[in-house]
Amino acid sequence: MEIQIKIQQLREELNQHNHNYYVLDHPTISDFEFDSKLKHLQDLELQHPEFFDENSPTQRVGGAITKNFQTVVHENRMYSLDNSYSKEDLQDWENKIQKVLGNVPLQYTCELKYDGASISITYQDGKLLKAVTRGDGFQGDDVTNNIKTIRSIPLQLQDNYPPKFDIRGEIILPLEGFEKMNQELIEIGEQPYSNPRNTASGSLKLQDSAEVAKRPLDCLLYFITGNNLPFQTQYSGLEAARNWGFKVPSQSKLAANLDEVFEFINYWDVHRHDLPYETDGVVIKVDDFNLQNELGYTAKSPRWAIAYKFKSEQVTTQLNSISYQVGRTGAITPVANLEPVQLAGTIVKRASLHNADQIEKLDIRVGDTVFVEKGGEIIPKIIGVSQRGNQAVPTKYINHCPECNSELTRKEGEAQHYCPNYYGCPPQIIGRIQHYISRKAMDIEGLGGETLALLYENGLVKDYSDLYELTVDQVIPLERMAQKSAENLVNGIEKSKEVPFERVLFALGIRYVGETVAKKLAKHYKSITALSQASLMDLILVDEIGDRIAQSVIEFFENQDNIKIIQRLQSFGVQFEIIEKFNPDATDKLVGKTFVISGVFELFSRDDLKKSIEDNGGKVGSSISAKTDFVIAGDNMGPAKLEKANQLGIKIISEQDFVEMIKG
Ligand code: AMP
Ligand code: ZN
Repeated sequence: MEIQIKIQQLREELNQHNHNYYVLDHPTISDFEFDSKLKHLQDLELQHPEFFDENSPTQRVGGAITKNFQTVVHENRMYSLDNSYSKEDLQDWENKIQKVLGNVPLQYTCELKYDGASISITYQDGKLLKAVTRGDGFQGDDVTNNIKTIRSIPLQLQDNYPPKFDIRGEIILPLEGFEKMNQELIEIGEQPYSNPRNTASGSLKLQDSAEVAKRPLDCLLYFITGNNLPFQTQYSGLEAARNWGFKVPSQSKLAANLDEVFEFINYWDVHRHDLPYETDGVVIKVDDFNLQNELGYTAKSPRWAIAYKFKSEQVTTQLNSISYQVGRTGAITPVANLEPVQLAGTIVKRASLHNADQIEKLDIRVGDTVFVEKGGEIIPKIIGVSQRGNQAVPTKYINHCPECNSELTRKEGEAQHYCPNYYGCPPQIIGRIQHYISRKAMDIEGLGGETLALLYENGLVKDYSDLYELTVDQVIPLERMAQKSAENLVNGIEKSKEVPFERVLFALGIRYVGETVAKKLAKHYKSITALSQASLMDLILVDEIGDRIAQSVIEFFENQDNIKIIQRLQSFGVQFEIIEKFNPDATDKLVGKTFVISGVFELFSRDDLKKSIEDNGGKVGSSISAKTDFVIAGDNMGPAKLEKANQLGIKIISEQDFVEMIKG
């Protein structure tokens, strides 16, 4: 009994801290303290599977896989909103509803219109029961597993909540998190996401909830529906939801008349750019539920609410030409060259066109007048054609590389075209060297992009291994070089020979092998020789390495030119292995014993734990069966595994227990 109370206590405490951190933005304990409490709870839950609760704060990290999202009918339909674009539109709307209501005094709740993906979450007895996407308004997809990973969404409510209700809100990706995700993609040579809204709604449909848990999603709530709600107005509903633990933005305001509504609109039209997330308008709602009921709904939307859309930062201008850029991975990006135009405080000359599909979908042609918009992203984009240019002909996407004239390729299911001329295409060559010397890779000081281009043009470097043969005398004659800077450059290159293997591996620029993946591979294989000999199957068995990465690694090492470059780098003394200390801990204590490991560990990485089992003579099994002797359980062990182990009566031990087993 005591244990159960302790577990309950920890859950409540952790829920409160989650709330303080993610909803109130006001943490009251350190991350470290939070993590130790969470760890404590995880341990207790593991030792007492009988108290498992799918709404425990330990379940936030995800792990559940949804192969097919179940279709769920909304108990209460999810409506759209009518739009308005001017004060006159709003005045017309008020006149219309006052005709129905008979000129009664009206108050409005004004809220920001958050730009994301709408969601309906059902709570029963204070617990999150299910979360469903909007779908067509009548039915949507059950995305409960994914929604639970969003920390600001309460799993357990506080205060005086009704026994059952649906709450609606918008799943958003705050701008800072969005930029960070894109930065990471750019780093591994991948195409960045185009905007926060699509990325948020795409995230809801990921199959692996652990992936969703890694994305910095948030949820802003704005509407409650259900029977016997303990309030009678929209505004007090928002306040109640806030008290129950939901994240309800504080900007919402009660307006006594349309003039106050206009004030709200005017203010936020300017200040919305200071918010940490994107908004595309204001939603105005008749505050009183009785009046709302009197007004009712049209086929599509409530008559008692209307959206006012901010004028988007959008202009029209002429498309002068389309040029094509080649990235370091050979990816082709079409760029629109525009008649310069003022947009959101800057002069815009270029805009992103993304890829061939996008150009075709919008049917964009040179000579057209196009709409250009600035969203959350850095580069403005073309969102459509405003007027067809005289004699504009359909755009024919290039099929040869603009830099080296090789025929372009496009993999099935990928949007991007690629130039396959890995070794002969200048921007790819220079891009690769640039990546090699970058800060997170070899971090070579004294060598910048312009110097690099000069080195290449003068035939001094053709790939990154040539860097190591550069001499001061060769470099001095280059533009803007002097004795001192030339020496710095050569010294910087020399120093890079000390960079550890994992960063060298990242520096090689193997497609899809970003910083984290390089670390994983280096740790697992320890040397470039072992890695280059790994089979596809071997690679896929490494933690977190999927098909796509594995295939790319295989292709890289199949290329003899790559092998030659690596051999040259090796001959210069670049690090291509992790120097292993002799392992004095190996024993035969575990001979004849089979282990299955599950969850995340504190003392070991999963790979280290496997290695330690094998070093001591044991075997590692991949799934629990009658042959398993021990399950080593870490944090977040799956409930199904736990049940299976219990059923078969297999001993479950912690990593500490394991350490005891192999000690002394
Ligand atoms: P639209 O998709 O343009 O028809 O706009 C309707 C959608 O706006 C709703 O389905 C909600 O997902 C979203 N929305 C964003 N903020 C709010 C808000 N404060 N109140 C109501 N709906 C909102
Ligand atoms: Zn090319």
